[in-house]
Amino acid sequence: MPSSQKVEEILEFIKESSPGQTEFYQAVHEVLYSLKPLLNRDNRYLEENILDRIVVPERTIIFRVNWVNDAGKVETNVGYRVQFSSTIGPYKGGLRFHPTVNLGIVKFLGFEQIFKNALTGLQIGGAKGGSNFNPKGKSDNEIMRFCQSFMSELYKHIGKHKDVPAGDIGVGAREIGYLFGQYKRLTGEFEGVLTGKGLNWGGSKVRKEATGYGSVYFAENFLNVYGKTLKGKRCAVSGSGNVAIYTIEKLYEMGAIPVSCSDSRGTIYHKDGISLKALKAIKEIHHSSLEEYASVDCNCTYTPLSEYPTDGHAVWHIPCDIAFPSATQNELTLVDAKKLEENGCILINEGANMPTTADALEFIRKSKLLFSPGKAANAGGVATSQLEMSQNASMAQWSFKEVDMKLQTIMRNIFKTAYDTSVEFNCEGDLVTGANIAGFRKVADSMIEQGAV
Ligand code: NAP
Repeated sequence: MPSSQKVEEILEFIKESSPGQTEFYQAVHEVLYSLKPLLNRDNRYLEENILDRIVVPERTIIFRVNWVNDAGKVETNVGYRVQFSSTIGPYKGGLRFHPTVNLGIVKFLGFEQIFKNALTGLQIGGAKGGSNFNPKGKSDNEIMRFCQSFMSELYKHIGKHKDVPAGDIGVGAREIGYLFGQYKRLTGEFEGVLTGKGLNWGGSKVRKEATGYGSVYFAENFLNVYGKTLKGKRCAVSGSGNVAIYTIEKLYEMGAIPVSCSDSRGTIYHKDGISLKALKAIKEIHHSSLEEYASVDCNCTYTPLSEYPTDGHAVWHIPCDIAFPSATQNELTLVDAKKLEENGCILINEGANMPTTADALEFIRKSKLLFSPGKAANAGGVATSQLEMSQNASMAQWSFKEVDMKLQTIMRNIFKTAYDTSVEFNCEGDLVTGANIAGFRKVADSMIEQGAV
């Protein structure tokens, strides 16, 4: 059967078997289409039915999470853990707490995670989880009770050699602490079952910074191929959470000028460069909105959501050399991609997971814009999580410099793997194809070697 017919067949199967899971469909569509050069060259993957097998999670766990709010009332949320692939190592992937979380979102993230984790060169499988719980506006005690209740079911399915969750949107150091405490209480085991832990109890230096730093290292490697560097480049960054903050921090260290950040309510444009100190105070300490940034005496502009361009996001309409989408999925649309090109942007470097819509990606791939797909550019977080697992296994704690050096090497290798694969398949610099083929090939070859399991 020709590869295109098989790909169409699988996509049809997903439409029928996973109705309404649009983000999952979008992720599978992007990956499968980019695999065609490999599928045409090596027919083992179709003969072994690898595509049919890889789009179905090994296990999906969905559970009710009842917890008691501060008013003494019981609230109910839904919890998910999608264990997608354990072919090359224990399941690994973050937990997301956000009201938009549903099975389709968790499956899209888990599917992407398989290939991302394979690209790191480390022994980690792919998974993702979370809940439609909204941490915003909740007290610390409410968050603790929710996390304890969530873990009261999840602990049955995870373990240091089985499945090691981490953070994602809405799950930071505080939530990981409460989840870890409850796991320890239920099992009586102090083990590296979660990553992103506190530095006093098994966490790794640089884990907090790793995704943002790694994204910037990736961009620098890509620019270097074309004789360019980040130094002096004006960078538009979206988001103001973990990934965005440490992207901005590293951009300054590399001599670039990050001029924007955003949250779910609006965008800040600060042409002299975002104040990292103010941003950290607002988001990491006060947990408040970026409107507060605009009220500080500065030369910045705040654009509220209500004034965003039609079908677009204000952040991508700011003139820049490089764009770092670092907030959430589908936050960079076709309108935005066209504006970035018109304004002379040279590179879009995805810090978030699938922040570019399908039609925007199609436009970008036909344009002269360079593009770093998230599964390669944001893999620094999960790679450093694996370094945390290694430290836990040997009861060691490495210095900040040591972990950062390892992270730089890993990001260089991920870039090289994706780039070299693009060259191998005659599409030099097309890192969507390069990253997808390289990640898929490693997992698919291992699946064949392990037989029908
Ligand atoms: P985070 O700390 O929770 O921050 C998320 C940021 O995105 C916040 O500024 C948030 O604004 C904004 N945001 C979230 N949902 C949004 C929506 N629907 N519309 C507009 N803005 C929205 O999360 P994070 O860890 O930085 O994660 C950001 C992205 O990176 C996600 O795609 C995540 O999957 C990906 N990622 C994270 C890691 C990691 O190690 N953390 C690793 C790899 C990939 P508000 O503050 O207003 O909610």
